[in-house]
Amino acid sequence: MKPFAYRRTASSTDASSLAVLEGHKLLGGGTNLVDLMRKGVEQPSTLIDVTMLSSDIGETDGGGLLIGAATRNSAVAAHPLVRAQYPMLSRAILAGASAQIRNMATVAGNLMQRTRCAYFNDPAASRCNKRQPGSGCDAMDGFNRYHAILGGSPDCIATHPSDMCVALMALDARVHLSGNSGTRIVPLAEFYRLPGDSPDLETVLNSGEIITAVEIPPSRFAQRSAYRKVRDRASYAFALVSVAAGVSMRDGRIEDIRLAFGGIAPKPWRALKAEAALRGGPATPEAFAAAMDIELADARPFAGNAFKVELLKRTTAAVLVELTGDKS
Ligand code: SF4
Repeated sequence: MKPFAYRRTASSTDASSLAVLEGHKLLGGGTNLVDLMRKGVEQPSTLIDVTMLSSDIGETDGGGLLIGAATRNSAVAAHPLVRAQYPMLSRAILAGASAQIRNMATVAGNLMQRTRCAYFNDPAASRCNKRQPGSGCDAMDGFNRYHAILGGSPDCIATHPSDMCVALMALDARVHLSGNSGTRIVPLAEFYRLPGDSPDLETVLNSGEIITAVEIPPSRFAQRSAYRKVRDRASYAFALVSVAAGVSMRDGRIEDIRLAFGGIAPKPWRALKAEAALRGGPATPEAFAAAMDIELADARPFAGNAFKVELLKRTTAAVLVELTGDKS
């Protein structure tokens, strides 16, 4: 690993001032960044420790939750308000990584983690437009079992690896940001960029801007919500597909619904087309299948991941059958 300097900061303002400097990277739990440094994918000159940022979880005036950027993933999953009001978030976090990693990883770090594409992680021998713009993409004709079927581009088909962010996407989370020109709040749905012709740009963060908190609005889906993850082994594996879903029912029909998918796109994928097709309609397997056909009409599978289309349809249908059944 290339030698680097380590600095602690006292505030988000200090961290922003340092983050604009060449070669400076923010360090939360380090569960992804340090791995990337060991592999030579990341070679920062200086790490800026931002674990002094808030690690509080509190209720907002509007009845939602505000989760500090430095809150550990395990603390979010175990928090009584999260478990009671946002159970899909708790389940999504517990479906990810290992207990040790969840104890170290922070909320902001989870949002900012990089793809686990094998070629991105192999600077010695692989071409990767995300790591080195313009160099090519070895995943297109290579091992693409874990890659995207929606939202990819001719330059990159990497997937976002987070479980937590899939639930946050379904819950309409918003990201609080602080930078040298002030603060702003960005819906998570607008936080990530699709790769297009610049897959090295993954978020809308400006230079020096840092995440200070994640806000979740009140949810009425606690009773009928779920996070289901399908993977190659039972633990410590990334999703082939995952589904975060929340449903409210009225008179036997779907009154409202939130659906987001993981493992199938360069960002946590909000299934707005499927939601629109299902809202107000019957909760039947036929309706679920038709909605997923609409959502996946633009799917572009590759040789190694074509199975994801059917797997995602079946997983989503199974989750929705379970959620829309009698809960009395
Ligand atoms: Fe790189 Fe994206 Fe291609 Fe993977 S899919 S090799 S991250 S450009």
